Amino acid sequence: MKIIGLTGGIASGKSTVADMLIQAGCIVVDCDKIAWQLAEPGQAIWQIYVDRYGAKVLNQDRTLNRQAVADIVFRDRQEMDIINSLVHPLIKDRLLAEAEVARQRGAKVIFWDVPLLFETGFDKMTDEKWLVYVSPATQKARLINRNGYTEDEALRRINSQMSLAEKQKLADVVINNDGDIEALRRQVLEKVNNGQR
Ligand code: ADP
Repeated sequence: MKIIGLTGGIASGKSTVADMLIQAGCIVVDCDKIAWQLAEPGQAIWQIYVDRYGAKVLNQDRTLNRQAVADIVFRDRQEMDIINSLVHPLIKDRLLAEAEVARQRGAKVIFWDVPLLFETGFDKMTDEKWLVYVSPATQKARLINRNGYTEDEALRRINSQMSLAEKQKLADVVINNDGDIEALRRQVLEKVNNGQR
């Protein structure tokens, strides 16, 4: 069975492609969803934050106060690295467990939808890497349109990530999303039917 890592940059269209793959009958595991589930009260990621920062990162109802967590880890590179070193293995285990389930069910391919595929090093566990690419101008316009950001806010978010040009060098398959939705769908279906899945 082949594990394909699907990634992109903010607002490049990765979620749109993931939806298209699911519609085409592919198995797609959503890494963000795994992280959210593990951050529910009593779950493993939730426990990591509580052990490290205490009740100040919890809301009244004991759910994680994500803003409080972000305020700590986004301001301190070292804290971010420590948290990542604790959290990433948990997510990695879940991704591998999902792949194992798919393998046992006889699947030929599984997609892992991972926003930070290269940054986390999770790409090393995949057999193939697919990137949803857009030009900088399209990326900025779509992000402003989707999130209602100002141009400055959009640029700050885009520039805080590894650039899509850089990710393109690391990808095996590049899906260009500068065109319309139908152009995107054609490419996705072609790549899926091509045996590239
Ligand atoms: P990501 O998951 O990479 O952040 P999304 O899939 O949410 O990106 O796409 C970003 C935004 O751009 C969304 O509002 C989406 O509906 C829109 N979008 C994606 N692809 C296209 C396209 N080809 N044409 C127009 N809008 C698009």
